[in-house]
Amino acid sequence: MTMQSVSNAGQPVPGPVLARTCPSCGGAHRSDLPYGRDGWRTVQCTGCDFIYMPEVPDFAAVATTFEWSASYAAEAARRKRTSPLLNRLDQITRVRTRMFGRRNPMQDVRRHIAAGRVVDLGCGNGSYLASAGAGYDLFGIDISPALTAQADALFREHGGYAVCAPCAHGLTQFETGFFDAAILRSYLEHEPDPAGVLDSLSRALRPGGIAVVKVPNFASLNRRLRGAKWCGFRFPDHVNYFTPATLRELAEAHGYTVTMRLKDRLPTDDNMWAVLRRPG
Ligand SMILES: [Zn+2]
Repeated sequence: MTMQSVSNAGQPVPGPVLARTCPSCGGAHRSDLPYGRDGWRTVQCTGCDFIYMPEVPDFAAVATTFEWSASYAAEAARRKRTSPLLNRLDQITRVRTRMFGRRNPMQDVRRHIAAGRVVDLGCGNGSYLASAGAGYDLFGIDISPALTAQADALFREHGGYAVCAPCAHGLTQFETGFFDAAILRSYLEHEPDPAGVLDSLSRALRPGGIAVVKVPNFASLNRRLRGAKWCGFRFPDHVNYFTPATLRELAEAHGYTVTMRLKDRLPTDDNMWAVLRRPG
């Protein structure tokens, strides 16, 4: 994939915008899909069938212009006025944090990995992992400075810590093979560079380490029935739209073996699950 900051003149939100080629295969050829809102649009790669938004808000550029420090809270009100995009970024992460659901990805981690270091990509305030990760050293990466600070305080009570960065970059701050498991829960659909993240994660996972993935399933029955009214469409927050086939293809292109049981990709479920394993 190539990404380029572009002027957002005429776009519906303030702040920088990224223009993307296919985030899975890098191809530039695509066809338009009839899904979008407020100027945000979706396309399908004609090379690999991956579905994505070709223009996305550059939340990482916004977040990293703010220093992560103890003074954040005192600055919050001013930033709310001066950076509606950063404020929106925090809201999105909070929504992710609230989406508990019935199935906790730590159940999948425990099935494969008895103990060790777990990293939550897009960890939000950390409460989700901290409540389920007893017995593991907990780490997280998130681009929201305020929420990462909360996660850091929680994870330090569990042998780890949290890093404020875009995930692909944050993962480079850990030694090769450092992690036994990773959680990518309601995260990859938000990530402008999913290939870059899976590449960085492959290095940061030990041989035999796993990543538990949960994303909305574009191939679900509900999406087919409800079309543009499907609950999985969130513009501009969900920038990638996976099917079981395109999720598998992206992961295998980065060297993972993929396990998706039938119950992980039920057509009646709006979400799907996968376990990616780094061979070793
Ligand atoms: Zn493609």
